[in-house]
Amino acid sequence: MSIFEKYGPRQVINGCGKMTVLGASAVAPEIADAMAKAAMDYVEIAELLPAAAGRFIAKITGAEDGCPTCGASAGIAIATAAVISGDNVDIIENLPDSNGLKNEIILQKGHAVNFGAKVTQMMKLGGGRPIEVGAANLVIPENIENAINEKTAALFYIKSHHAVQKGMVSIEAMITIAHEHDLPLIIDAAAEEDLHKYIAMGADAVIYSGGKAIEGPTSGFICGEKALCQACRLQYKGIGRPMKTGKESIVGLLTALGKYAVKTDNTDRQKNRMQQFLKELKDIPGSTGSIAQDEAGREIYRAKLVIDPVVTGINAINVAKKLEEGNPSIHTRNYYLGQGQIFVDPRSLLDGQEKIIAQKIKKILQQAKGNN
Ligand SMILES: *Cc1c(COP(=O)(O)O)cnc(C)c1O
Repeated sequence: MSIFEKYGPRQVINGCGKMTVLGASAVAPEIADAMAKAAMDYVEIAELLPAAAGRFIAKITGAEDGCPTCGASAGIAIATAAVISGDNVDIIENLPDSNGLKNEIILQKGHAVNFGAKVTQMMKLGGGRPIEVGAANLVIPENIENAINEKTAALFYIKSHHAVQKGMVSIEAMITIAHEHDLPLIIDAAAEEDLHKYIAMGADAVIYSGGKAIEGPTSGFICGEKALCQACRLQYKGIGRPMKTGKESIVGLLTALGKYAVKTDNTDRQKNRMQQFLKELKDIPGSTGSIAQDEAGREIYRAKLVIDPVVTGINAINVAKKLEEGNPSIHTRNYYLGQGQIFVDPRSLLDGQEKIIAQKIKKILQQAKGNN
């Protein structure tokens, strides 16, 4: 029984991956333990934020400094506020009202995405005025250059599968343009795995989610240039207050970052688990299993099941539906259901859950065959 069932929601088996709507990550016991210890104790937040958090984030990412947040979306709002206010307390206390200030944040039209909420709305929360340039499928450097004026506060780049991947101005070009105009470049790299790359390229602030690649609790952070990170932390006396990150989240985030930095390759174990999963289903006619690498080329190996509805009497869409309807509610990776393909992601499965999914699929397919 899951802890959530006590309050109503069904237990979830997450074979989909890291999805915010399913609670992002399930943390490792040592992270949960660190969070429990932090929750049961006291600390001066004014010491925790710059010293522990700032220095630790800097050490892990190679940036000059850092600022913990309650998520990447809060990171966008806070970084936006920081580029507008700097360390000016009166501006900090008056945001998101930024009337008369340098408040324009330039982004490419193909980057004005909705990741569950709109990225431009997060900028507005921080007092930013998003300026979308170019077209949804084509932006050239000139579009960015032409939009820069005396009200520009920063350029913004989103590195994400949500964004349009073709026809956009590259990070390198964005950094060059920003720095030629003495402007900071902010990158939203919420779900990215590489914590060094964008800082090393010269980005001024890079925003990550703590609950995605890093597998930490609901949290996030900004890393980057010192004065900018200091200005980010100052926002906790302003617009950051209603999105503050607590001591237990900060300690959970730092523990997860420490663990992530020394993470060893576990792709063999992932593949192995998925092979065991497929083995359980190999004798069922009309379902063909294989191991498939992530479409984007990341080191993720998922189980791929192709369901032939003519043989099984049920199509992949309905198999996935039945999996989700049950208790536990089983979520598979369903981006290719229309093509008859169901994927299972090993990263988000707790020990032994691949067996439960295999048994349930077997049952669904056998029942369908019986009805056929
Ligand atoms: C998930 C995501 C966010 C939001 O992150 P949270 O930590 O949930 O606030 C922002 N930007 C991108 C590109 C994302 O993928």
